[in-house]
Amino acid sequence: MELVFLGTGAAWGIPELTCGCRICEEMRKRNEKRDRTAIILKGEKNVLIDCGPDIRNQLSRNNIGRVDAVFITHEHGDHFIGLDELFSFKRNVPRDAFSPIPVYLSRQSWDVIKLRFGYLEEMGVIAARCIDAGTWFKAAGLEAMAFKTDHGKSAAGSVGFLIRFPGSNGKSARLVYTSDFIDIPEIPEEALSPEIMITQSVWLNEPVKNRPCHMSLQRVLHFIEIFSPQFTYLTHIGDADMVPGDPYNESLKKYIPKDPFGSPSGGGPYPIPLCQSQWEETLKRVLHDHKMPFKVAIAYDDLRIEL
Ligand SMILES: [Zn+2]
Ligand SMILES: [Zn+2]
Repeated sequence: MELVFLGTGAAWGIPELTCGCRICEEMRKRNEKRDRTAIILKGEKNVLIDCGPDIRNQLSRNNIGRVDAVFITHEHGDHFIGLDELFSFKRNVPRDAFSPIPVYLSRQSWDVIKLRFGYLEEMGVIAARCIDAGTWFKAAGLEAMAFKTDHGKSAAGSVGFLIRFPGSNGKSARLVYTSDFIDIPEIPEEALSPEIMITQSVWLNEPVKNRPCHMSLQRVLHFIEIFSPQFTYLTHIGDADMVPGDPYNESLKKYIPKDPFGSPSGGGPYPIPLCQSQWEETLKRVLHDHKMPFKVAIAYDDLRIEL
């Protein structure tokens, strides 16, 4: 099976429209970008996790000819607003050859999403499959289980997914996917020590007020320790860290760091990463300085991993 990172950016993607901050400018200079976060698991069948506003381009540039199931983590636009694009999969097959694409999500998420996209179900494009946290279900040949994640009041239906997939050695392996969250009320024991974990790192520094309820690199290390995966990919990366001397620090999205992240042995805070290579360098330093024996990588758009 192949894992493809279709997008690795935060809610508005980076470089962000109208933003001239040091991070966005450096990315423009290097021709880097991060679309809204989504992945696809490609095997005999294809499972898409999240379906944001960039999905048309993401599926097209990765030659994804079919989607057999969709998992939606929560009811924020950057994770579901692209569902209408799934219409193309129905429009371009022979009449009567199409079955609605099952979309797995929590009841609370569907209650919000159906207000916008209920017509997709009425028109036979998707079939909502409301799932209960803690109960295994089968989707496109894979077994999966949702678990509740706390992403604040505006996404009460937020879940992560534990997915069993056939590993390269023929044995069953596990992938943990957590999108936006600030806490996980109950971590299922079966989700511990997975082969792969995909989680978020919106900022380097934990902000004073974590209002949108996301993970910083500073905070997510704690969850990596708890889950103890063999390999972690960090995604959903944004541009809201303040870079010293940047006039855009005045903009609303820039967060004041609570306790700037640095090495426990001193030397001041880590520099704010502006681009992929700087994120990689900083992550390497962080893991070394904090004596964390984990394999962690910063994902980037269109990164493909053979599982
Ligand atoms: Zn998001
Ligand atoms: Zn969100």
